[in-house]
Amino acid sequence: MPVTWHVLGAGSLGSLWAARLARAGLPVRLILRDAPRLAAYETNGAAITLVEHGVEQRVPVSAQVADDIEPIKRLLVACKAYDAEQAVANLLPRLSADAELILLQNGLGSQDAVAARAPQARCTFASSTEGAFREQDWRVVFAGHGFTWLGDPRNPMPPSWLPDLHASGIPHQWTPDILTRLWRKLALNCAINPLTVLHDCRNGGLQQHPCEVATLCSELGELLTCCGQPEAALELHSEVERVIQATAANYSSMHQDVSQGRRTEISYLLGYACAAAQRHRCAVPHLIQLQKRLVEHLVAQGLRID
Ligand code: NAP
Repeated sequence: MPVTWHVLGAGSLGSLWAARLARAGLPVRLILRDAPRLAAYETNGAAITLVEHGVEQRVPVSAQVADDIEPIKRLLVACKAYDAEQAVANLLPRLSADAELILLQNGLGSQDAVAARAPQARCTFASSTEGAFREQDWRVVFAGHGFTWLGDPRNPMPPSWLPDLHASGIPHQWTPDILTRLWRKLALNCAINPLTVLHDCRNGGLQQHPCEVATLCSELGELLTCCGQPEAALELHSEVERVIQATAANYSSMHQDVSQGRRTEISYLLGYACAAAQRHRCAVPHLIQLQKRLVEHLVAQGLRID
């Protein structure tokens, strides 16, 4: 019997993963926030619409709420970093003794919080360059084809479910160095996203602020080394410049969150970096100043800073 993929969170990435797993014929259950959300989903026909290369496909996926009684052996956690710990805590009574959790959250911090809440479960961390957005409820646009790195910092052995991803056409690779990849992505994010918010510009707008970017990259490189991640620091500045150029026309995810009045994942990105610097007594004055300016900006916009 194939193991059911429970997918927590029917947002952008959760819907993208659930639709691809389900259309490959694998058993999938969406876990929705509450009974009204479940009722809305069922009224919509209990299906996700996936729009890919302009072509839309309706994929039926069954759904349930957190307090359903079905045991969970495999859980894809697809909510925002700030929701992950509590969302998994709500499901603890349903997790089997050999449960496997796959954590899609950006940044760092939420993965350890989830792993501490569910110590019996094997937790796989993911770092993805795929991009998706929710056009409306239950309808997701696959906007950027990419790649997902997966790994378990406590156990380098690949899990048994990787063939399911292959069967579903989800490009991925297992890596023993997932923390290096997550740290690298966090550093890229810290060097680009907060500045796009503060200068209210697309990524390419940072080409007008080369000194600010270079100073941040230098401090981030030192921080990565202090945190035992020297490989994540290699050629950081040139990669940041390359990303700024390659994505010049895009608004960063943090810029999009702020301009649409949504809560950001600041605590798991810049906030995590600044807290790590303090823990390791690593001097990063410009990074701390950046955090202060960003927090002030969020407060001025009436947005949460945690
Ligand atoms: P999203 O579109 O906001 O989706 C999050 C979903 O989680 C929402 O549908 C929300 O439900 C649901 N949720 C939250 N708490 C829940 C709970 N207790 N029970 C059930 N559902 C719950 O977010 P996203 O863009 O998919 O991002 C998810 C993570 O992936 C983030 O850490 C993000 O940084 C990362 N990521 C995203 C992308 C991307 O392209 N989107 C790419 C790479 C990484 P409601 O709908 O009811 O609010």
